[in-house]
Order: sequence, then C-alpha cells, then structure tokens
Amino acid sequence: MNYQINYHASYHKVEQCPEADRPEFAFIGRSNVGKSSLINSLFGRKELAYVSKQPGKTQSINYYKVDERFYVVDLPGFGYAKHSKKQRLSWDKMTKRYFLNRPNMACVFVLIDANIPLQAIDRAFINWLGEHHLPYVLIFTKSDKSKPREIKKNIENIKNELLKDWEYLPPQFVTSSVKGEGKDLVLDYLFNLADE
Ligand code: GDP
Repeated sequence: MNYQINYHASYHKVEQCPEADRPEFAFIGRSNVGKSSLINSLFGRKELAYVSKQPGKTQSINYYKVDERFYVVDLPGFGYAKHSKKQRLSWDKMTKRYFLNRPNMACVFVLIDANIPLQAIDRAFINWLGEHHLPYVLIFTKSDKSKPREIKKNIENIKNELLKDWEYLPPQFVTSSVKGEGKDLVLDYLFNLADE
C-alpha cells in the first residue's frame, strides 16, 4: 500500500472541524488503551500521534490526512481516573457533538483492551454509538500482553457482555502495536471503506 499520511490540524471545537468532503475514520477508546500507539503502528510513522506519558492530556480533535483521500481522526481518550467531573462532561459533550456532526463518518474504530474485562464506560460508549446508528468496529488492543488463550477467553467474555445489549456485533480486530498483529487487516478494512 502506497500512501502519504500527514498531520492536518487540531481542533477544540467541533464547529472548527474541516468540511465533511471526504471519508473520515475516527479512533477512540479509554485513555491508555493504546490508541496513539495503534495509529502510529497502522500508518507507519513513529511519532504521528503522541504516545502519552501523561494519560488523558489531549482534549483536542486531531486530524490527519491520507493523500487527498480521507481523514484519520484521533479523538481524546475517555475515562481517565484523574479527570475532574467537569473535564469528563466536557469530553462527553465534545465527542458526542463531533459524532453527530460528521455525515462523512465512514467508521469509528473503538479500541478496547484485550487484557481486561469490558469496562462500564466502554459499554456505555458502544451502546451510545449503536443507538445513534454510527458505523463502528471493535479493535482489541495489546494482544501481546497476555497469553494467547487468555486473550481469546477475555475477548469472548467481552463479546458475550455486549451481546446482552445487541443482537449482533460489528466486525472485530485483534491487534498488537508491539508485534504488528492485526495491522494489515485493519488497514485493508479501512482502505476498502475509503474507496467505496
Ligand atoms: P493512548 O492513551 O490510548 O493513546 O495509549 P498509548 O498509545 O499512549 O499507550 C499507552 C501505554 O500502553 C503505553 O505505555 C504504550 O507503550 C502501551 N501500549 C500501547 N500499545 C501496546 C501494545 O500493543 N502492546 C503492549 N504491550 N503495550 C502497548
């Protein structure tokens, strides 16, 4: 695959986001889930997205442009324990407003840690996306951190939890930014949608 990804701009207000004139792919998940690492690993640029030493710091909507074809959007992580209630509400308001105002949204990549049980905040967010009919997929992250059979079991449990609320689930990918697992499958999926 031959493409160029470049940083485009960061926004603090949804109204400032670029015109919805090309497909857009958003990456979101709990703070520390491995979102920046995954974006960097997918697009092969070491420091494209900032891998944070201070989780939960960025509250901006960061846009990257792939050729002139589509946008990749890095949204602020949620659920950071040290965030105040006010910060949480502001995150909630900004991200939900963002999702409801991007008619060009091709897919939301929802990152979930493959090593731990489904967190209430993940479930709430996934349910919100589903209720608003937003297209999304699940990306299980950090698959290298536990034994393969533990990862497999945990992912099964997460899916069973989600199936309590939904009849069926969207596509799922298992990834490791350290080992590169899942990278090609995610990119194929993304580029296919971009070409539709
Ligand atoms: P973000 O807050 O979601 O953007 O997460 P980061 O990408 O900053 O990663 C959070 C922490 O998890 C960092 O210490 C990363 O080195 C680590 N991490 C991210 N992805 C992986 C992975 O695939 N495997 C392992 N073992 N650690 C990872």
